[in-house]
Amino acid sequence: MLSNCAYVRPRSLEEAFKQLSSEGSKVHAGGTDLLGCLRDHVFEASKVVSLSSIKSLCGIKTSGHGGVRIGALTTLRDVAGDSEIKKHYTALAQAASEVASPQLRNQGTLGGNLCQKPRCWYYRGDFHCLRKGGEECFAVAGENAFHCIFGGESCYIVHPSDTAPALGALGAQVHIRGPKGRRSVALENFHVPPSEDYTKETCLQPGEIVTEIELPPPVEGLRSSYRKVRARQSWDFALAGVALALVFKGDQVQKARVFLSGVAPVPWRSKEVEEVLTGKRLDGATVRKAGQAAVQKAKPLEQNAYKIPLLRGVIEEQILAIVR
Ligand SMILES: Cc1cc2nc3c(=O)[nH]c(=O)nc-3n(C[C@H](O)[C@H](O)[C@H](O)COP(=O)(O)OP(=O)(O)OC[C@H]3O[C@@H](n4cnc5c(N)ncnc54)[C@H](O)[C@@H]3O)c2cc1C
Repeated sequence: MLSNCAYVRPRSLEEAFKQLSSEGSKVHAGGTDLLGCLRDHVFEASKVVSLSSIKSLCGIKTSGHGGVRIGALTTLRDVAGDSEIKKHYTALAQAASEVASPQLRNQGTLGGNLCQKPRCWYYRGDFHCLRKGGEECFAVAGENAFHCIFGGESCYIVHPSDTAPALGALGAQVHIRGPKGRRSVALENFHVPPSEDYTKETCLQPGEIVTEIELPPPVEGLRSSYRKVRARQSWDFALAGVALALVFKGDQVQKARVFLSGVAPVPWRSKEVEEVLTGKRLDGATVRKAGQAAVQKAKPLEQNAYKIPLLRGVIEEQILAIVR
């Protein structure tokens, strides 16, 4: 059951910042993740600040530079269905359409998707784990089949977002506003790895709100895609997945950005795969090398070594699919 808390619906960002300045306030976008966390007492809120009446946070528009700006409150359904995003930023449209179920995509927002909390069952359950201020990560010696194989230092969550790896591959910027003003960070610097701070998921400071996500102008020759593998056909989080953004000149890859999902505590950039692909024709030998390079530095826990061949397979399949 939800604990008692106030609910407010400011009409402007300025009003939202005022509301968020009191201790224990939480941002509410679509609520698909937040309300579950509050109901399960993963954390508490004394006040829930809904952004739903702030119209400036909704919608998809062209940016001055020829790219696209997506309001943080834009639903995943709208992102997945937008014709420009489908055409020029295919990986993002595919990732948004892979999130959860149609009902959750109607309600869930892009900003909420980037800021959602981890799905680790110890974190979500009655365990006072490291991320909640406790002494240990229970996944290390516990049930760790769904935990990370990269970047797990002290805490072994996987980042749950499907859109974040796609946005990382496409070189997105996250625009943030707060009581102290505006700032922007590259998507790849937005999430905080456990090696930096295992109690935080994002670089947001208290009272800050993600306002927009900006994609750079589409480059000639860009092909992008996102695919995740999940345990079942209905809604589920990624066991392993890959977002590719490859710029081709003829049949050669000029530039590659590759981000992995379901395998690390943050959207995981695979510079190893990028290096293998850059400057190459994507023949069988290169594709195999890319798969090998992707998993070279993996450090599985006791129950999740299956993610290594799974990740390798999905990467090889997706590279071959993007060539066709
Ligand atoms: C059954 C189920 C299945 C799911 N499956 C998937 C899946 O397959 N893939 C996936 O990626 N996700 C999945 N999700 C997770 C998530 O609910 C959605 O991804 C959704 O996009 C979250 O958006 P929201 O607007 O509902 O966020 P909310 O629940 O409103 O917020 C989530 C968090 O982000 C913060 N927040 C929200 N917006 C902002 C903002 N603009 N600025 C600052 N902080 C903000 C909130 O304070 C909260 O902590 C699933 C959730 C459920 C319940």
